[in-house]
Amino acid sequence: MSNFNTTSNQNQNIYPKPCAYNCNIQIYWNTATNEYREVFTKKKHICPNRHNKPTTTNTANTAATTTTKPNHHKKSFISQPKPKMFNSFELLQGSFDAIQKKYEILSDIVSEYNGKVHGSQRDRDPKTGLIDLLVYYEVPLGQREEAKHKFDNYIRNIVSSQL
Ligand SMILES: [Zn+2]
Repeated sequence: MSNFNTTSNQNQNIYPKPCAYNCNIQIYWNTATNEYREVFTKKKHICPNRHNKPTTTNTANTAATTTTKPNHHKKSFISQPKPKMFNSFELLQGSFDAIQKKYEILSDIVSEYNGKVHGSQRDRDPKTGLIDLLVYYEVPLGQREEAKHKFDNYIRNIVSSQL
C-alpha cells in the first residue's frame, strides 16, 4: 500500500486531457505550479502548436485552398510561352543634357514596345570630355525594327535641333 504513495504523493489527482492546440500530447493542470504539465514527462508543456493558435480556422483554410486549387488552369498559364525578345543597346553620346534626353526617349520607346531597359554603362571620352552611355535594352523580336527606327528619328531630331 505504502509503495503506491511514493509515485503520487507529490501532487494531487491528475486529470489528463489532450492539449487544446492539437499537438496530441496528454497534459494535466498542475495546481502547485499553475501550469500545464505533460502526463508522461511530468514537465511543463511548452506546446509546439501554440503560436498557430486558431486550429479551427487553420483546417478551414487548408480545406478552402485544396478545394479551390485550379491545378490544370494554373499549369497552362505558367507554361504560356513568353514572346521572344531582342536584346540590343544604344550608344548615347553628347553633353549631360543631351544624353539625359536621349536616355529618356529610349526608355520611353522601349516601354512603349513592351520592352525593358536592362541597364547602362557610363564612360567618358578623355579627349573630348563627352560622356558615353551604353544603354542595354530588350524589345519583343517583332518590334525591333520599328523601335529602332523610332529611336533613330527622335535622336536625329534632337541632334539637329541642337546644332
Ligand atoms: Zn500542446
